[in-house]
Amino acid sequence: MSIKENPEKIKLELPARVKLIAVSKTKPVETIKEAYDAGHKIFGENKAQELINKQPELPEDIEWHFIGHLQSNKVKYLAPFVSMIHSVDRKKILKEINKEAKKNNRVIDCLLQFHIAEEETKFGLSMEEARELIESGAFQGYENVRIKGVMGMATFTEDTEQVRREFKHLNNIFQTLKKEYFNNENFRELSMGMSGDYRIAIEEGSTIVRVGSLIFGARNTQ
Ligand SMILES: *Cc1c(COP(=O)(O)O)cnc(C)c1O
Repeated sequence: MSIKENPEKIKLELPARVKLIAVSKTKPVETIKEAYDAGHKIFGENKAQELINKQPELPEDIEWHFIGHLQSNKVKYLAPFVSMIHSVDRKKILKEINKEAKKNNRVIDCLLQFHIAEEETKFGLSMEEARELIESGAFQGYENVRIKGVMGMATFTEDTEQVRREFKHLNNIFQTLKKEYFNNENFRELSMGMSGDYRIAIEEGSTIVRVGSLIFGARNTQ
């Protein structure tokens, strides 16, 4: 067994509303297959090319989540199969996802990614940018994307109170958007929490946790 922890075991401690994404970036398909054979079917990748390479090598019924920064020219390769794109952080990428989803006769679930951390390096929208995106005329016409909620990454720090504040902030953003723009059943996902902070995220209302190293062990590269 090269996986460190069976995702099925982690799932036992999660509330029923929380979905576990096993983040398999940098790990070979054999390792992913092990987790799959142990019963887990939901995986996440953060590099488009890596996901494009791995997907055909693995069972068809895997639910693939794309969680990293996405370039427009890669969208067409993900559109036929991706279950959810967590990283919508600009108008242009949503337009492209809509276009490619339409070509594939699909509606692709998306999350708006927000910048909630202190680190500049992390991607994501500000509230102002999100409003501009949502209020744009083009947005109203996107029939092949379904906005299901929001995603964010907290600062990488030992300071758990700071992490908690950032997750609370994301939950506030979620509630505000739901009230003002997405007052519907579809808008219900709060993707926050990774190996080091998923318990705090769940306490702060997370519905999707993205856990990598706890399941697969430390990454060599990245
Ligand atoms: C790598 C990654 C994760 C998982 O990180 P771990 O700390 O290994 O659990 C979650 N979300 C995103 C966006 C990532 O890139």
